[in-house]
Amino acid sequence: MIKTDVLILGGGLAGLSTAYHLNRQGSLESLIVEKEPSVGGTAGSFEKNGFVFDHTGHLLHLHDAYGKKLVLELLQGNLALHQRSSWIYSRGIYTRYPFQANTHGLPSKVIDECLLGFFKTLHRPDSVPRGPSFRDWCLRTFGAGICKHFMFPYNEKLWRRPLSELNTEWQGRFVPKPSAAEVLCGAILDQRKFFGYNATFRYPRRGGIQVLPDALAARLKPGQVRTGSPALAVDLRERVASIQGVGEIRYERLVNTLPLVDFLDLARPLPSEISEARGRLRYNTVYCLNLGFDRRDSSGRHWVYYPENKYPFYRVGYYSRFAQSNSPRDATSLYIETTRPAGVAVDLARLENSMLKGLRECGILRRSDRILVKLWKPIRCGYVVYDFARAASVNAIMRHLASVGADSIGRYGAWKYSFMEETLLDGKRCAEQLSGLTAEAASQSPEKELRPLR
Ligand SMILES: Cc1cc2nc3c(=O)[nH]c(=O)nc-3n(C[C@H](O)[C@H](O)[C@H](O)COP(=O)(O)OP(=O)(O)OC[C@H]3O[C@@H](n4cnc5c(N)ncnc54)[C@H](O)[C@@H]3O)c2cc1C
Repeated sequence: MIKTDVLILGGGLAGLSTAYHLNRQGSLESLIVEKEPSVGGTAGSFEKNGFVFDHTGHLLHLHDAYGKKLVLELLQGNLALHQRSSWIYSRGIYTRYPFQANTHGLPSKVIDECLLGFFKTLHRPDSVPRGPSFRDWCLRTFGAGICKHFMFPYNEKLWRRPLSELNTEWQGRFVPKPSAAEVLCGAILDQRKFFGYNATFRYPRRGGIQVLPDALAARLKPGQVRTGSPALAVDLRERVASIQGVGEIRYERLVNTLPLVDFLDLARPLPSEISEARGRLRYNTVYCLNLGFDRRDSSGRHWVYYPENKYPFYRVGYYSRFAQSNSPRDATSLYIETTRPAGVAVDLARLENSMLKGLRECGILRRSDRILVKLWKPIRCGYVVYDFARAASVNAIMRHLASVGADSIGRYGAWKYSFMEETLLDGKRCAEQLSGLTAEAASQSPEKELRPLR
């Protein structure tokens, strides 16, 4: 039987970062098992007919000093800095993102409703709902007009459930809140001001976002990542995992980065309250259609949001704008996104037809364009749903896992809404905690020395 100090399930950014930082700490041996033939997970890329596609737009927003240093070192010169060009398309008009600060250009009736609603939240704060739901938060933060014309239809398309069922834990960093002056200014003129967490972003010049996980994997020890090796079962009591093609692995500590629901489905034994908590976790599947066509787009846009129901997608982005090398010369590549609650059956052929029709209606595709590549890549567990049951369920699960020597980290392991830099930092933090924890444990029980195991 193979033995390791730390067994890491999943070779996405969370798993790779954990192994990388454990190596830097130097005290513990670790091994990653990854189901797919290559590392990267959701931050991976794939090539077809000269196009490089990611799993929808994967843009680097680097806010943390260490996170930035790590990524810049890993990608050494293969990163370009872009100023975001993101838009909303509604009523046949492009307005700048975010909608709440850029209504200029929309029909005057829409602008009036947005402004009146927004200023009512300031002058008549007693008139706005106080409830804890995302829906009520939108109403009291932006007012009825902005909610009617963007916040509600857009978020209902993304979350696919009543917004009164969602809480506000997830939106803090992701939904910009402009001041009254900015809302007013953005209604009367084309305000070229950048709002939000992603005003600029970095993206690899060559190779798609895959170069990031690849760079981390290249810094690990030979044999430290076993690709094409799905975890089939984990015995949490015996601390033994069964891995297809590898066999049984005995570990001291386990780091899970698989979607929490999947991990709990293969972990045994689980107390009934943990199985029940798992049953309360909700998520959406992202259906992403990747498309390449034979005309160079000249709009200069990076991505566009579509709040209106007549379009079957909520966002369309241009891979070929992130890097010239993502598509052949004189061609354009796109990702077209929609979601469904997990488990809902989707007729992809029908969805594809309606997406292509929508792209033509809004002018992204022209009749004369020849489609060169069309590739569906659903992300089964794409968005964790922040409903009112989530936090207590996740906390109970994490407490139980900690009691059996397991951590669960990353966007899906920790069951949260996060981004790549945060995921890398999750791995670092986990490695530091494990190293610290283990040193402490070793000093308290010298007979159970945690030497590297092979
Ligand atoms: C639609 C969308 C858009 C996004 N856009 C951005 C963006 O623009 N910028 C940004 O910073 N972040 C973005 N993100 C977030 C980013 O993708 C994540 O933060 C990050 O990739 C999560 O990495 P992870 O390692 O936690 O999870 P994952 O990448 O999901 O890694 C988990 C790994 O586990 C493997 N696995 C699954 N089952 C098994 C098994 N049984 N055995 C072994 N291995 C298994 C998987 O193959 C995978 O490699 C986006 C996410 C989505 C869904």
